[in-house]
Amino acid sequence: MMTTRGKFTENLQSLNVPRTPGEREVTQEKEHVREYSRAMVVVAHPDDAEFGCSGTVAKWCGEGWEVVYVLCTDGSKGTGDRQLTARDLARIRRQEQLAAAEVLGLKEVVFLGHEDAMLEPTLELRKEITREIRRYRPDILVCTTPQRNLDGGWGVGHPDHLAAGEAALSAVFPTARDHLTFPELLGEGLEPHKVSEVWVMMHPEPDQFVDVTDYICTSAKALAQHTSQIGGKGEKEVGEMMREWRRRRAEGKPMEYAEAFKRIILDRPRP
Ligand SMILES: [Zn+2]
Repeated sequence: MMTTRGKFTENLQSLNVPRTPGEREVTQEKEHVREYSRAMVVVAHPDDAEFGCSGTVAKWCGEGWEVVYVLCTDGSKGTGDRQLTARDLARIRRQEQLAAAEVLGLKEVVFLGHEDAMLEPTLELRKEITREIRRYRPDILVCTTPQRNLDGGWGVGHPDHLAAGEAALSAVFPTARDHLTFPELLGEGLEPHKVSEVWVMMHPEPDQFVDVTDYICTSAKALAQHTSQIGGKGEKEVGEMMREWRRRRAEGKPMEYAEAFKRIILDRPRP
């Protein structure tokens, strides 16, 4: 574990990550993202990434990518249990997130530690995310949509998800790119970095569908680590839930289970 300015990251490479047998095989399909090898997932809460993109993350990790999570909040409000304190819940959710990270094979989990349910897209948060982008230099950054979707399908949206998405996108462009923005980061040895693509989760009009069929078991196992958030469900029930969501995402596509994103390519010439 290393500590940086009150934030901390944990190296998970040394934990000898076990995976479900048969899921190590790298699929041979041709993808336009094959030349990439590093991804970062920026989310508000422990479990957001497992719900939204853990099949894709499992696939990338299985193919040898370095994937880093950046968790903006401590998850300290997500319970109906009156016996649990916010501090205890934050501790529990941190352990749950690290267990999920082990299942998936992440390189690192960075906990920014902001208070759950109070997240705002401040310049401070943008700078913190910029710091991690410049440190880990991802090719693809995955985040939640900053737009409130009022179609009723997913409720009204969580303000932390919107804030994390807004701060992450602003960190990608232009902040991580420009050396004159937050010049103190240069003093930390963190050079500017251009993210090649952003993949937005929870977007109402996704256009990037990832076949996660071979990784659905790993994905469900990762989500099942978030015991405090799945209402007493076991891995089997979580797996059935996950399959149903991913099956719906795959409707009309040449795949059984899919995760969906809005893909934004940043490093191609303007039309
Ligand atoms: Zn959340």
